[in-house]
Amino acid sequence: MKVIIGAGLSGLSAAYHMGSGNKLLERESEVGGLCRSVTTKGYTFDLAPHIFFTGSQYVNGLVNELLNGDLIKQRRRAYIYLLSTYVEYPFEVNLHGLPQGVIDECIEGARNRPDIQPRNFMEWISATMGEGVARHYMVPYNEKIWKYPLKEMSIDWVAGRVPAPSVEEMVKGAQGKVEREYGPNAYFQYPRVGGIGAIPTAFAKRVTDISLNSNVHEIRHNGKRLDVLYTRNGEPKRLEADRVLSSVPLPELVKMIKSTPEEVIKASERLVSNSLACFNIGVDRETISDKHWLYFPEKEYIFNRISFPMNLSPETTPKGKSNIVVEVTYRGAKPDPEETKAKVREGLIHAGILRENDKLEVFDALDFKYAYVIYDLQHKGNVNLIQAYLESLRVSSMGRFGEWEYLNMDKAILSGKRAAEEEKRK
Ligand SMILES: Cc1cc2nc3c(=O)[nH]c(=O)nc-3n(C[C@H](O)[C@H](O)[C@H](O)COP(=O)(O)OP(=O)(O)OC[C@H]3O[C@@H](n4cnc5c(N)ncnc54)[C@H](O)[C@@H]3O)c2cc1C
Repeated sequence: MKVIIGAGLSGLSAAYHMGSGNKLLERESEVGGLCRSVTTKGYTFDLAPHIFFTGSQYVNGLVNELLNGDLIKQRRRAYIYLLSTYVEYPFEVNLHGLPQGVIDECIEGARNRPDIQPRNFMEWISATMGEGVARHYMVPYNEKIWKYPLKEMSIDWVAGRVPAPSVEEMVKGAQGKVEREYGPNAYFQYPRVGGIGAIPTAFAKRVTDISLNSNVHEIRHNGKRLDVLYTRNGEPKRLEADRVLSSVPLPELVKMIKSTPEEVIKASERLVSNSLACFNIGVDRETISDKHWLYFPEKEYIFNRISFPMNLSPETTPKGKSNIVVEVTYRGAKPDPEETKAKVREGLIHAGILRENDKLEVFDALDFKYAYVIYDLQHKGNVNLIQAYLESLRVSSMGRFGEWEYLNMDKAILSGKRAAEEEKRK
């Protein structure tokens, strides 16, 4: 028997692709991991805001089959809010509308981009977009989301995620609208009912043996077997497995194995990630925005991004109301939720999204210790060392924080599928 740990998308996918006769353990009382939704007073929020997009025909087919095609397909309406102006995403090809001085600086910077082979993310920004876009948008926004020095980040994750337009496209975009669609999420899908969590919920119906409220705390070597020790509703339990597939974040997984060598523990301690405080807001007012989401590079706003679920699916709010999810990333100590809430409300009023007298029917704070993997310059070496050790113990680590890669939903599903297929071959 194989034991799968974690019923997020990668664990569900591994269990689904492996078939019956295996056990999936999840510590929470529901499946979905990061990809869950909650409904409060008639408002539905994703725990962290999500949209579904993929270049994989297989994943697209699978997700649509799981939801019987009940997804809404839309064209992205994402903007950067800067200098009291809504600049359509991607910023660098939609400069029109900004003050002329800023446009000139961005174009001038793009024309004089340094001709270098970038060695880190900061250099990549300059070499790809020039100093103007770097100064006004890319540097402040990325410093805000990552909370990590951009000079100490690698560029392994950038390709296919951050658009890299030509100077001609930027000039055209400064004069008016560009026609080309940029980025992999120019079109996306979203479940009509139930928020993004509808996807793992439907997935779980295709998986036979899921044990919820099952918190794994140790994986113990037992000759040719592995003992998986966990508590279910507080009661100690043990399973014997020939292999374990885990989507537990690598630093936590390493701690579960008692005999781990010092160099592997050290490598796991060197892995870098950031955390996220999310605020779900239900507003007793109709259509407070017509956009899907907004990026906020400016320091005066505590949040880096806000999203409007009601524009992803009208089913996420009661009639005549609106909802917002606000994201504030952090590293290290968790910010005080009440203080942050006050700054969130203040910022939303300052940006003209909320009004002073708006009635907030929901204003809930959530927290994720593991939100984004940070690609520091030692990322690859550390991850490879840990993965090789786990593999020697017959533990496959998969998913966003199991692979320690910037995986989206589709890649998490494919990660679980790949792990299952490899198991079948072993
Ligand atoms: C802020 C944010 C926004 C995102 N937006 C998008 C988006 O718009 N589109 C997109 O495609 N992707 C998005 N993603 C990425 C997406 O959420 C992930 O790729 C996907 O959900 C990862 O699934 P996973 O199974 O790898 O990990 P997880 O979802 O983290 O699942 C791991 C599971 O393991 C369980 N677990 C952990 N420890 C134990 C233990 N000891 N015992 C038992 N169970 C345990 C957890 O409870 C969890 O259920 C976003 C992610 C974040 C953080």
